[in-house]
Amino acid sequence: MRHWLRPYVQRARRHFEPKALVLMYHRVAEPDTDTWNLAVSPAHFEQHLRVLRQAGTVISAAELAERLRTRTLRRRSIAITFDDGYPDNHRAAAPLLTRYGLPATFFIISGQVGRAQEFWSDELASLVLLTERLPATLALALPDGAGHLAADLPAEQLLTPALRRQHQLWRATEAAPPTRRAALFYELWQRLQPLPAPSQQLVLEQLRAWAGLPATVRPAHQSMSWRQLRELSASPLFTIGAHTATHPALAYHPAAVQAHEMAASRQALQAALGQPVELLAYPYGSCNAETFAIAAQLGFKAAFTTAAHAVGPTAAPHSLGRFQVNDWDGDEFRRRLRQWFAG
Ligand SMILES: [Zn+2]
Repeated sequence: MRHWLRPYVQRARRHFEPKALVLMYHRVAEPDTDTWNLAVSPAHFEQHLRVLRQAGTVISAAELAERLRTRTLRRRSIAITFDDGYPDNHRAAAPLLTRYGLPATFFIISGQVGRAQEFWSDELASLVLLTERLPATLALALPDGAGHLAADLPAEQLLTPALRRQHQLWRATEAAPPTRRAALFYELWQRLQPLPAPSQQLVLEQLRAWAGLPATVRPAHQSMSWRQLRELSASPLFTIGAHTATHPALAYHPAAVQAHEMAASRQALQAALGQPVELLAYPYGSCNAETFAIAAQLGFKAAFTTAAHAVGPTAAPHSLGRFQVNDWDGDEFRRRLRQWFAG
């Protein structure tokens, strides 16, 4: 081939190569704080669905796994996934998906279902970023040898309207913490994320006592119930996948813990829903070669990371990348899809 032609040929080849995008959503809601950029408003989500009907062929994540296995992946395939099992998935996302006839997979933290407990990260955000009055200082001994943590909140004991506003607008994925409280949240989040779930709960208990708050649970920050999951799984459009039992950052944990988390989650979901659970998503996208091997050994047909790359025809089925979708309007979402397909 003439050398000056090569870039054009490569681009054309890339363009026509079968390729899939897997989209990762968490919430269809407008929460008070959204530090990790997890929520898409219902209006924007509907715009995304309209764009998706034109941008490619939306297939289920299970069909994607099957097409990879049989080497029949098609051009411009798109799969929709949701992580963590927020109740707005059932209330807001599912009705819209049904109206547009688009399939989706919901990855569920089995140990969180039926439990009067918020997702730990949400409760942490509420405690530190939204509590009206906090003590001036904090001194914590963290469990599991995670050390100590101290903080001073001299000017931020009281949550002024200005502070509240800053916390509502802050996205840790895009900007450094704008306040001392935000810095404390960020530090705590990083220290707690690698810990086992019981240790995270222990620290939350300590923080609740520190703040002088009762253990209140906001229903919008709990998992969907078994009844809601059964309703979802009864629809031919929807698939339930495993997202471990307690949402650990798997790569920080020994192989036996990783295997138990994956297997227990699948077992609990299968028992409650009476359907095989064949897909898995790694919490926080925390995974490594050992994690992929365990997921494969346990017989999951496919497993998803949070690495932002498209899925090509020869992708390894237990490390499939996904793109996190933010609260974009339809035009911005269309631009992103174009970029992701071209990348
Ligand atoms: Zn998750």
